[in-house]
Amino acid sequence: MSFDDPADQRFHPNDGCPLFSERLEEHLVAVQKGLAPNRGQFCGNCYTPVSRDTTTCAHCGQDARTGRKTVDAVPREIAEALIKQRKVEAKWVNGFAYLGLLIAMVGGIALVLAVPFFKDRLIYATIAYGLILLIGGRVLAGVLGGYYGDRIGFERARRETISTWERWVATRDATQT
Ligand SMILES: [Zn+2]
Repeated sequence: MSFDDPADQRFHPNDGCPLFSERLEEHLVAVQKGLAPNRGQFCGNCYTPVSRDTTTCAHCGQDARTGRKTVDAVPREIAEALIKQRKVEAKWVNGFAYLGLLIAMVGGIALVLAVPFFKDRLIYATIAYGLILLIGGRVLAGVLGGYYGDRIGFERARRETISTWERWVATRDATQT
Protein backbone atom coordinates (compact mmCIF):
# COMPACT_ATOMS: atom_id res chain seq x y z
CA MET A 1 0.00 0.00 0.00
CA SER A 2 1.41 3.38 -0.90
CA PHE A 3 0.61 6.75 0.56
CA ASP A 4 0.79 9.06 -2.38
CA ASP A 5 -0.37 6.91 -5.26
CA PRO A 6 -2.74 9.04 -7.34
CA ALA A 7 -4.07 5.91 -9.05
CA ASP A 8 -5.89 4.62 -5.98
CA GLN A 9 -8.19 7.58 -5.73
CA ARG A 10 -11.82 6.68 -5.37
CA PHE A 11 -14.83 8.93 -5.65
CA HIS A 12 -14.47 11.87 -3.28
CA PRO A 13 -17.60 13.97 -3.14
CA ASN A 14 -16.76 17.63 -3.41
CA ASP A 15 -19.13 18.78 -0.68
CA GLY A 16 -16.80 20.59 1.66
CA CYS A 17 -16.61 17.73 4.14
CA PRO A 18 -13.24 15.94 4.09
CA LEU A 19 -14.58 12.79 5.83
CA PHE A 20 -14.00 9.91 5.01
CA SER A 21 -11.01 9.21 2.85
CA GLU A 22 -10.62 5.65 1.64
CA ARG A 23 -7.67 5.18 3.95
CA LEU A 24 -9.55 6.47 6.96
CA GLU A 25 -12.50 4.23 6.16
CA GLU A 26 -10.20 1.21 5.83
CA HIS A 27 -8.57 2.06 9.12
CA LEU A 28 -11.84 2.53 11.01
CA VAL A 29 -13.32 -0.68 9.63
CA ALA A 30 -10.19 -2.57 10.71
CA VAL A 31 -10.43 -1.01 14.18
CA GLN A 32 -14.10 -1.87 14.42
CA LYS A 33 -13.37 -5.48 13.50
CA GLY A 34 -10.61 -5.61 16.07
CA LEU A 35 -7.94 -6.10 13.42
CA ALA A 36 -6.07 -2.89 14.17
CA PRO A 37 -5.61 -0.64 17.19
CA ASN A 38 -6.90 2.91 16.94
CA ARG A 39 -3.38 4.23 17.23
CA GLY A 40 -1.09 5.77 14.71
CA GLN A 41 -0.68 9.15 13.11
CA PHE A 42 -3.66 10.90 11.63
CA CYS A 43 -4.28 14.19 9.89
CA GLY A 44 -5.45 16.75 12.44
CA ASN A 45 -8.17 17.95 10.10
CA CYS A 46 -9.70 14.99 8.25
CA TYR A 47 -8.15 12.13 10.32
CA THR A 48 -6.76 10.31 7.31
CA PRO A 49 -3.83 8.11 8.39
CA VAL A 50 -0.58 9.83 7.46
CA SER A 51 2.96 8.49 7.59
CA ARG A 52 5.47 9.68 10.16
CA ASP A 53 7.64 11.44 7.63
CA THR A 54 4.81 13.30 5.89
CA THR A 55 3.71 16.72 7.02
CA THR A 56 1.08 17.38 4.36
CA CYS A 57 -2.13 15.32 4.28
CA ALA A 58 -2.61 13.72 0.87
CA HIS A 59 -6.38 13.82 1.30
CA CYS A 60 -7.21 17.34 2.49
CA GLY A 61 -3.89 19.12 2.09
CA GLN A 62 -3.60 20.05 5.76
CA ASP A 63 -0.02 20.95 6.62
CA ALA A 64 0.88 19.78 10.11
CA ARG A 65 3.67 22.36 10.36
CA THR A 66 1.41 25.37 9.82
CA GLY A 67 -2.09 24.02 10.47
CA ARG A 68 -3.56 21.42 12.76
CA LYS A 69 -1.07 19.08 14.36
CA THR A 70 -1.45 15.39 13.63
CA VAL A 71 -3.26 13.31 16.25
CA ASP A 72 -2.45 9.80 17.45
CA ALA A 73 -6.01 8.46 17.43
CA VAL A 74 -9.20 9.07 15.48
CA PRO A 75 -11.76 10.79 17.74
CA ARG A 76 -14.62 8.54 18.86
CA GLU A 77 -17.26 10.85 17.34
CA ILE A 78 -15.63 10.54 13.92
CA ALA A 79 -15.37 6.75 14.17
CA GLU A 80 -19.03 6.58 15.18
CA ALA A 81 -20.04 8.80 12.27
CA LEU A 82 -18.49 6.32 9.85
CA ILE A 83 -20.23 3.33 11.44
CA LYS A 84 -23.50 5.23 11.16
CA GLN A 85 -22.82 6.13 7.53
CA ARG A 86 -22.09 2.54 6.60
CA LYS A 87 -25.21 1.34 8.40
CA VAL A 88 -27.42 3.76 6.48
CA GLU A 89 -25.78 2.78 3.20
CA ALA A 90 -26.18 -0.94 3.89
CA LYS A 91 -29.83 -0.45 4.82
CA TRP A 92 -30.59 1.15 1.45
CA VAL A 93 -28.59 -1.39 -0.53
CA ASN A 94 -30.37 -4.27 1.21
CA GLY A 95 -33.76 -2.64 0.95
CA PHE A 96 -33.42 -2.17 -2.79
CA ALA A 97 -32.04 -5.68 -3.22
CA TYR A 98 -35.14 -7.10 -1.51
CA LEU A 99 -37.30 -4.92 -3.70
CA GLY A 100 -35.60 -6.45 -6.75
CA LEU A 101 -36.30 -9.93 -5.42
CA LEU A 102 -39.91 -9.04 -4.78
CA ILE A 103 -40.33 -7.69 -8.30
CA ALA A 104 -38.89 -10.95 -9.70
CA MET A 105 -41.28 -13.01 -7.52
CA VAL A 106 -44.42 -11.09 -8.39
CA GLY A 107 -43.42 -10.42 -11.98
CA GLY A 108 -42.49 -14.08 -12.45
CA ILE A 109 -45.89 -15.28 -11.26
CA ALA A 110 -47.67 -12.73 -13.45
CA LEU A 111 -45.60 -13.76 -16.47
CA VAL A 112 -46.12 -17.50 -16.02
CA LEU A 113 -49.86 -17.00 -15.50
CA ALA A 114 -50.11 -14.79 -18.58
CA VAL A 115 -48.48 -17.25 -20.99
CA PRO A 116 -51.07 -19.72 -22.36
CA PHE A 117 -48.44 -22.41 -22.97
CA PHE A 118 -47.96 -22.87 -19.22
CA LYS A 119 -51.67 -23.26 -18.49
CA ASP A 120 -51.79 -27.05 -18.23
CA ARG A 121 -48.07 -27.64 -17.96
CA LEU A 122 -47.32 -27.30 -14.31
CA ILE A 123 -43.79 -28.71 -14.58
CA TYR A 124 -42.76 -26.23 -17.27
CA ALA A 125 -44.45 -23.40 -15.47
CA THR A 126 -42.55 -24.28 -12.31
CA ILE A 127 -39.24 -24.50 -14.16
CA ALA A 128 -39.86 -21.18 -15.90
CA TYR A 129 -40.80 -19.54 -12.63
CA GLY A 130 -37.73 -20.98 -10.96
CA LEU A 131 -35.48 -19.62 -13.67
CA ILE A 132 -37.09 -16.20 -13.50
CA LEU A 133 -36.61 -16.16 -9.76
CA LEU A 134 -33.04 -17.40 -9.93
CA ILE A 135 -31.77 -15.20 -12.73
CA GLY A 136 -34.18 -12.27 -12.66
CA GLY A 137 -34.10 -12.08 -8.89
CA ARG A 138 -30.34 -11.98 -8.81
CA VAL A 139 -30.05 -9.44 -11.61
CA LEU A 140 -32.77 -7.17 -10.25
CA ALA A 141 -31.42 -7.38 -6.72
CA GLY A 142 -27.96 -6.57 -7.98
CA VAL A 143 -29.01 -3.68 -10.16
CA LEU A 144 -31.48 -2.14 -7.75
CA GLY A 145 -29.38 -2.70 -4.65
CA GLY A 146 -25.94 -2.20 -6.11
CA TYR A 147 -26.82 0.79 -8.21
CA TYR A 148 -29.88 2.64 -6.96
CA GLY A 149 -29.71 1.54 -3.34
CA ASP A 150 -26.05 2.35 -3.22
CA ARG A 151 -26.48 5.82 -4.70
CA ILE A 152 -29.48 6.82 -2.64
CA GLY A 153 -27.96 5.30 0.49
CA PHE A 154 -24.72 7.13 -0.05
CA GLU A 155 -26.46 10.47 -0.51
CA ARG A 156 -28.65 10.00 2.56
CA ALA A 157 -25.74 8.85 4.67
CA ARG A 158 -23.50 11.58 3.38
CA ARG A 159 -25.97 14.25 4.46
CA GLU A 160 -25.80 12.91 7.99
CA THR A 161 -22.03 12.72 7.87
CA ILE A 162 -21.81 16.33 6.73
CA SER A 163 -24.00 17.59 9.56
CA THR A 164 -21.97 15.52 12.04
CA TRP A 165 -18.82 17.01 10.56
CA GLU A 166 -20.12 20.56 10.82
CA ARG A 167 -21.11 20.05 14.46
CA TRP A 168 -17.74 18.45 15.11
CA VAL A 169 -15.78 21.31 13.54
CA ALA A 170 -17.82 23.88 15.46
CA THR A 171 -17.11 22.08 18.76
CA ARG A 172 -13.47 21.46 17.90
CA ASP A 173 -12.82 25.05 16.96
CA ALA A 174 -14.72 26.37 19.97
CA THR A 175 -12.55 24.42 22.39
CA GLN A 176 -9.31 25.32 20.63
CA THR A 177 -7.09 27.76 22.38
ZN1 LIG B 1 -6.33 15.61 6.04
